[in-house]
Amino acid sequence: MVTTLAAVAAAQQPTHHWAIVLHGGAGVIERATMDPKTESAYRASMTQAIQAGAAILDKGGSSLDAIETAIQILEDDPLFNAGRGAVFTAEGKNELDAAIMDGSDLKAGAVAGVTRTRHPISLARAVMEKSPHVMLIGAGADAFAAEVGLEQVEPSFFFTERRWQSLIKQLQKEGRPIPPRPAGVPPPPPVPIAEFEAPTAHKFGTVGVVALDRAGNIAAGTSTGGTPAKRWGRVGDSPIIGAGTYASNQSCAVSATGVGEYFIRLGVAREVCNLVYFRGFKLQQAADQVIHKELEALHGDGGLIAITPDGQLVWSFNTSGMYRARLAEGGRLEIGVYNDEP
Ligand code: ASP
Repeated sequence: MVTTLAAVAAAQQPTHHWAIVLHGGAGVIERATMDPKTESAYRASMTQAIQAGAAILDKGGSSLDAIETAIQILEDDPLFNAGRGAVFTAEGKNELDAAIMDGSDLKAGAVAGVTRTRHPISLARAVMEKSPHVMLIGAGADAFAAEVGLEQVEPSFFFTERRWQSLIKQLQKEGRPIPPRPAGVPPPPPVPIAEFEAPTAHKFGTVGVVALDRAGNIAAGTSTGGTPAKRWGRVGDSPIIGAGTYASNQSCAVSATGVGEYFIRLGVAREVCNLVYFRGFKLQQAADQVIHKELEALHGDGGLIAITPDGQLVWSFNTSGMYRARLAEGGRLEIGVYNDEP
């Protein structure tokens, strides 16, 4: 009899179709200035990351596992401003921020100003699962990472020539001092600087993933190097729960990208979820309201991805482009770069 009741209860459990949405940053991304090779590299990398996350969800894995795996891939990819390939501070360092949030119980973990942990997203998750805290910063966060056995690297691991040259150009343009080339990195290549990205090419390149698993749980994660040539220990929205990252099964999960100061002031991620929860907005309507009305009213730039437990998958951005991809169980992979794509 007990078995029968258990079987009935199991049969009544809602079975959810999994879904996943990813972004690789928003900004001035235009066809006229994008070379086709770079564009296809971005599309290939997003495809690889979203498919890795989808494979986990398809096997019944958790939204948190899918998010962590997909973000690790993007953190290792020098194309994106997260992990290796992050932008530099004005002092010539890579200071990394990340956050993750579990919509099923509102647990969250975040780190800021990390310089030695290979995967900041995994550190954010460890803060959530293995510490009594929500947010750790700087050397203390790296020390905790080492304590829980997360891979530590030399700061030079995150160095890329492309970001270094962008930093130098930006600092020269602004008449600010140029820091020494970091220790332990390869010598400057004999390539004209013009081949590297122009400082005017404002591409944010932060990465974020939101996902829905078969158990019906949603989650969100974001990882970034922050804004180029940042100073004074600046921290953006990405690791601020409620600003760049938020998840609740009651409403939605959000990961944002853009000029973090505006996203913090508006509490963007939580704001979207509040519109869904309190005002009954559809997710697209909520996302568009925050990006196209509230963010624009402050003259802020950027975008977000979001998901609901009932499988609404959306993105919204007010820049000329945002690297983005989405995939739902049984559906077709959609990838976009420019704002004239669906
Ligand atoms: N939002 C990030 C920050 O302000 C930057 C970005 O999205 O690229 O740190």
